[in-house]
Parts: sequence; C-alpha cells; structure tokens
Amino acid sequence: MRQPGKSGSSREIAAILGLQWGDEGKGKVVDLLAARADVVVRCQGGSNAGHTVKVGGETFITHMLPSGVLHAGTRNYVAHGVVIDPEQFAAEVEEFRRRGSRVTPENLFVSDRAHVVFPYHKRVDQGREAAQGEKKIGTTGRGIGPVYADKMRRVGLRVADLFEDEMLDDLLAAGVIEANSTLAGLGASERFSPDEMRRWALQWRDGLRPFVTDTFARLRAEVEGGARIILEGAQGALLDTDYGAYPYVTSSNTTLAGVSAGTGIRGGEIGRVLGVAKAYATRVGAGPFPSELSGALGDAIRERGREYGSTTGRPRRCGWLDAVALRYAIAINGVTEIVLTKPDVLTGQERVGICVAYDLDGRRVTDFPASRSAQMRLRPVIEFVPGWKDHLASNGPYERLPAEFQEYVARLERLCGAPVTIISVGAEREETIFRAAGAR
Ligand code: GDP
Repeated sequence: MRQPGKSGSSREIAAILGLQWGDEGKGKVVDLLAARADVVVRCQGGSNAGHTVKVGGETFITHMLPSGVLHAGTRNYVAHGVVIDPEQFAAEVEEFRRRGSRVTPENLFVSDRAHVVFPYHKRVDQGREAAQGEKKIGTTGRGIGPVYADKMRRVGLRVADLFEDEMLDDLLAAGVIEANSTLAGLGASERFSPDEMRRWALQWRDGLRPFVTDTFARLRAEVEGGARIILEGAQGALLDTDYGAYPYVTSSNTTLAGVSAGTGIRGGEIGRVLGVAKAYATRVGAGPFPSELSGALGDAIRERGREYGSTTGRPRRCGWLDAVALRYAIAINGVTEIVLTKPDVLTGQERVGICVAYDLDGRRVTDFPASRSAQMRLRPVIEFVPGWKDHLASNGPYERLPAEFQEYVARLERLCGAPVTIISVGAEREETIFRAAGAR
C-alpha cells in the first residue's frame, strides 16, 4: 500500500504539462522520466497531439500512444479523457512494433470509457474549418472538436459501445444523421451511411479489443500499489478550453484538472507538476499571440528550432517567451518545477527578449483579458537580457554554462516564481541538464 495515508501526494506521481501553446517538447521530457517510471498515462486530447521523441538518431512520433511505449518496462495507459481514433491507434501500434518496441495487451491499456473518433467527425471538423474561411481556428482536422462536442451533448460513442452490436447500430444511425445534416448545412457534398460506418467500426474494433479495459480501476490499483506514475499532458495550458484565448483553444482541459478528470488520479495525489516551457514561444493556428515575431527573426527561430507541426507539418508562428502567459499557466497548474526546453535555438542571439507585461490601449496589464477584441489588441512589453554566444553543453554541470544563460534562467525564475530544475539543450535524451539529482 502507498504510504503515507490515502490523501497524501507522492513525488512518485508526476504530471508533465505544456505551459504554452503545445509543442514545448513534452514528448522528450516524458521519455526521459519514463526511464524511471512504472506507468505512463495519456490523459486527454487525441491524435491531434504529436509528441516527438528522438532516440539514438531515430525519430518517433506518437499521436495516440503514450510516449512510454519506447521503454520496455513501462505500462502504458490511454485513459478515459482521451478520444480514440481506432484506425490511427492500429497504425501506431503496428509502426512501433515494426520498429522494435514491445506493444502488447500486457503493457498497453485503453479505456473502455474513452470516446471514439469516427470518419464523419473528421469530415465535419474539416468542413467547419473550411466554412469559417478567414476566421478558422486552425484545428488539425482530426475530428477532435466534434467528438468532444458529441461527448458533452451525450450523443457520443464510447469504446465499450463498439462491442455491443445493437447499441452500436443505434448510436451510429443517430450520429450519421446528425453528421450528414451538418455537412449539408456547410454545403459539403459528402454523405455517410450507417452501414459504411458499421463496417468501419467492425474493421477496427478487433485491433483495439485486446487492449480495452477499465483503466480507472487499474490505475487506482497502480496508485494504491505505489507505482511510479507519469501523467503525460497534451497540447498546452494556453490551449485549455477554459483558460485559453477562447475560441482559439483545443477541445479539452489541458491543465492539471483535466489530467485528474481524464484519468481518475486525484489532484492531491500528484506530488510533482513539471511544467514544460520552451525558451521562446510558438503557436500553430489562429488566435492572439502578443509576443509574436513576424519578421526575419521569427523566421530564423522557426528554421533553427524546426518549428513545423508534427501532426500537420504546418509552420508554427514564433515569438519571444511570454512570461505573463507562463506565470498564468504556472498558477493554473500549481507547477512545482519548470522544464526549460530548446534554449539552444537562441544561442548566438545578441539579446534575448522576454515579454514581461502587455500594453492594452496604453495601460500596462499582466493578466489575460476575457474580451476577444482586447486580446487581439494586446501589445507586448519586452525586456531584453544579454544573449549567450557559447554552445550549451550538456556534459558538464549547470554552473559551467555561459553566465548570460544562467542570468536568463534566474530572471525567468524570478518572473515566474518557480524553479527551473531540468534544462533540455537538444532533442536527444543525453542533451539534458538536471540541476539537482532529485529532478530525475
Ligand atoms: P511536444 O508535442 O510538446 O512533445 O513537442 P513536439 O514534439 O511537437 O516538438 C518538440 C520538438 O523539439 C521535437 O522535434 C523534439 O525532438 C525537439 N526538441 C525537444 N527538446 C529540444 C531541445 O532542447 N532542443 C532542440 N533543439 N530540440 C528539442
């Protein structure tokens, strides 16, 4: 039994969450910490996520599977807060097996309560985006918004429903009628038939079946048994449906409360909350981005940081690190430590900018306004600190890194009120600096 007590948090249960607009490098951080974990859990989102992990020069991208599948000894969970695309799931299982990972029903568990993404969800997602024209949100077109909408409207189809034939037929009939009427309203010509969707479900459910289980019950047993657990976030705090710049957000809660709701592991049990932040900011898709650099510098950061979406290949918008947004994300999540990624991309810059406040119609503000038009009028107040010229080497202690870099980190810590305990200076596992032994 886990000690001490039922309600005590444990450093052995850690959440790894994005503090910006996603793409912070969470995949690498999960992979690093998974080496010492028993369990890795995907908590929310779906195949709109794309976590890139580099191991020995090889690149792996996970959309549906937890990043822990790269470690032979971990048990991996796709919990009920995730929405499952069975076709993508099967493709990923196949790919990881082909490339040498052990992915079996003994080390991968999928929730029977998770909602299922059907092809009509994708088509509705793409149709809605196309109909929005200039106002589109910039979704990945993978059906995630429509499937979460169905979940909340109580008309969704869950993994368990795939295995009850009559229930499946009834739910699909209703789902297809709605999707077709939405597509007609959007002026799209494509229509779906319940039979076609039934065939699709039967084709893919068999691949899913051996992995399906009650992940809530299993995860509770893992907690009680004292397992070392990593809760893998997807997207980032500023894309959270409640906290982000609505409507330019994703369709799930990407913050700590979403992790608990999506897994059944209680907030009070989570002893470490690692917030992952890039040394600059990026975002994909539309929406307010006050610290955006639209000129040559933004382009240079995009090229050096290879800032192109791992799910869609779209170029990411780049800007200076936004400390206002970061402080907000840290407060929402109760972050206990910051993992700073990709400062190597800024090496050689004469000076490095940090957005420390916003200017809103001549007023200095340090909170996000709710008003959509006000969000668009925010102008960044940038503080510049001296840049660092020398390479950020991962094979020595933190104290041997360039003094300017250490000053930059200290400034960030003061601005954000949380310690930077891990610094990633390259995509590979070894390119990491742990500032304290306990950070591992
Ligand atoms: P995630 O969705 O948060 O896991 O982030 P992505 O996988 O979309 O993007 C992170 C990208 O940066 C991946 O290509 C990583 O291999 C790479 N990466 C991670 N950490 C570092 C780092 O410290 N430096 C550099 N240069 N690249 C990194």
